[in-house]
Amino acid sequence: MNAEIIAIGSELLLGQITNTNAQYISKQLANVGINVYYHTVVGDNSVRLSEAIDQAQKRSNLIIFTGGLGPTKDDLTKETITASVGRSLVTDQEALDSIEAYFKRRNRVMTDNNRKQALVIEGSSILRNDHGMAPGMVFKDNGVYYLLLPGPPKEMEPMFMTYALPFLLTQLDESAQIVSRVLNFYGIGESQLETELIDLIEAQTNPTIAPLAKDGEVTIRLTVKHENEVEGAKLLDELEKKILTRVGSFFYGYNETSLTKEVALVFGEKKLRIAAAESITGGLFSSELTQNPGVSEFFVGGVTCYSNEVKQSLLNVPKEVIDEFGAVSEECARFLAENVRELLKTDVGISFTGIAGPTEIEGKEIGTVFIGVSKLGEQTRIYPIKLAGTREQIQGRSVKYGLYCLLK
Ligand code: ATP
Ligand code: MG
Repeated sequence: MNAEIIAIGSELLLGQITNTNAQYISKQLANVGINVYYHTVVGDNSVRLSEAIDQAQKRSNLIIFTGGLGPTKDDLTKETITASVGRSLVTDQEALDSIEAYFKRRNRVMTDNNRKQALVIEGSSILRNDHGMAPGMVFKDNGVYYLLLPGPPKEMEPMFMTYALPFLLTQLDESAQIVSRVLNFYGIGESQLETELIDLIEAQTNPTIAPLAKDGEVTIRLTVKHENEVEGAKLLDELEKKILTRVGSFFYGYNETSLTKEVALVFGEKKLRIAAAESITGGLFSSELTQNPGVSEFFVGGVTCYSNEVKQSLLNVPKEVIDEFGAVSEECARFLAENVRELLKTDVGISFTGIAGPTEIEGKEIGTVFIGVSKLGEQTRIYPIKLAGTREQIQGRSVKYGLYCLLK
């Protein structure tokens, strides 16, 4: 396969930004043995882009475009390629739904030009954008592959590694099987994880390693190309072992899973019953767990003990403990976890106490959280954590951390 890269953007020609996308893509393609013979840079100009496409079609069978997939008038990559291959643009419903959801989550009004980002070239396979709105796409026309990627490196790089490269590898060698596996981590940031694995990431060829940060969690997708699926899986096993030797304490599950699903799986299987005492999370933990059907197997309920009165009257936290250490304390978390377990007669009690903001309480910083986990016949464990973010984020992250503590 002879490839070339066309980077689109007037900022590149003006010297305002460096064409790191071409460098990145070239390096990854070299790793898997795909030849790159040309790099072209064109401005946001449809006539000159058209000329570049004409020329590329004659000499390459893989043309990779980056940039100009966004919502604004100067983003004209799709329109120009469409005209050049005589296809049309169609709305991709999944992309449109995810763009709408993106705006809804941020409470922002979606303008009409954002719809443009859901337009895709007819007959193309869509590459999901896990870090932004504009999806990528790939199609084959007259023996030439066209691969369209977004401009921002933060969107382009993970899309390339996670979706585009595996696709190219299958096209390259039809007998090759692509085997991939996702490892899910919690409690470690993306940059820390990358630092721990930097030598493996830099040396990656086949299998490849693609880290991805999402909702305070990090995932790593491992992808391998092999003629034999079983042998491919063995290569993934080896790499996974290396990764987990270093960061295994943060690992919680494979593939399409979530902390909630893993808790449901583990506790459902062991038939261990859980009760929750929720101060800072105000019931969010219970709500999160009950989003899974079948939780009645192991989740009995909880007490929303927001006020100190309820902590004392329903959950028997001694007044002296609150007076001496405060409601946001290791000691209080311990009483809450142990006593909710006894009150509701379960195997496990989990408690959440902390400060979500906007103001400090008891002279303790916003984001100070204590999670208690009391298991029948075991010593209660207290997890003191410091969380950042808005009130809502601190509450949400407390819930996730609590789920993670249950899996430890
Ligand atoms: P957006 O939705 O952000 O408009 P886009 O796909 O339309 O994305 P562009 O508008 O072309 O992409 O570029 C957006 C930004 O991405 C640029 O301002 C620049 O910071 C970065 N970028 C674009 N092309 C490159 C490149 N070749 N190398 C490095 N960075 C790039
Ligand atoms: Mg743009």
